Amino acid sequence: MRVHVADHPLISHKLTALRDVGTDSPTFRRLVEELVTLLAYEATRDVRTEVVEVTTPVTMAQGVRLASPKPIVVPILRAGLGMLDGMSRLLPTAEVGFLGMLRDEETLQPRTYANRLPDDLSGRQCYVLDPMLATGGTLAMAVDFLHDKGARTITVICLLAAPEGLAALEAHVSDDVELTVVVAGLDERLDERGYIVPGLGDAGDRLYGVV
Ligand code: URA
Repeated sequence: MRVHVADHPLISHKLTALRDVGTDSPTFRRLVEELVTLLAYEATRDVRTEVVEVTTPVTMAQGVRLASPKPIVVPILRAGLGMLDGMSRLLPTAEVGFLGMLRDEETLQPRTYANRLPDDLSGRQCYVLDPMLATGGTLAMAVDFLHDKGARTITVICLLAAPEGLAALEAHVSDDVELTVVVAGLDERLDERGYIVPGLGDAGDRLYGVV
């Protein structure tokens, strides 16, 4: 598993504003979008392309376009949905699949409650969006889900990760998956409720309010 912690002053600046308990939901949503677009730039560094010819007003030139099958972006509902616009801005032709997962707040175990994905993901580059890599349980389950459908190249994009979650994900993922984690910040630890410390609180609640 490859972990890339983004190192850019604009990313740190936006992340600091996200952490601030005084940041309201509309601002939080906008900042998440902006941050994900910056992270997407890094996360798509290895996106597959194919060579094409293009006619410029002056002459013919060689260029590239995204290869087929197109990449697929998979936001994990609900909080991952807040990351979709930022990702689509950079990768507008990617398909979008949805995976609904939630974590039992007592056992901290995840379960799947919705899935809208193609049956066959072989040969597809998958970009999974989930803001908080806390225990790693949800993402481990999501990676298994995609692996069962044939995906072998998976990039997870997160805002924050805890060392415990990264270790758990790495221990879980099977050898035949090329897994990359791109994250805006690596935090200190998890607390006893499974929250990332210092973190930014409950990402879903901060994006959409408490429902
Ligand atoms: N999920 C969140 O939204 N925040 C955390 O800190 C951990 C998991």
